[in-house]
Amino acid sequence: MGKKDRRAPRTAVVTLRDLPGTRVMFWLVQDCPYCGASHLHPAGNLRTADPAETLGERPAPCDPARLYVLSLPPRPQKKRGKEARRRERRAGRTNDWDE
Ligand SMILES: [Zn+2]
Repeated sequence: MGKKDRRAPRTAVVTLRDLPGTRVMFWLVQDCPYCGASHLHPAGNLRTADPAETLGERPAPCDPARLYVLSLPPRPQKKRGKEARRRERRAGRTNDWDE
């Protein structure tokens, strides 16, 4: 196998999960930019670690030759109008019960 091209790492949006019954945290990549599956990355110990320190470039578990950048999702805006919330709720319900 030849050397891979240097490609810019893709962004992988993560959410923080903890393992019930333990103090171990994980970053959950819900939607891998390469394979579309979900991956877990250890984020350290709840007591001692700052999980943000484990964000950044990581090899993708589905293809260790490729990197992706673990990144927090953009924060939703805190202040939203009643109308927008209602619309969102209605849209969510439609998606959930669409079958
Ligand atoms: Zn993947």
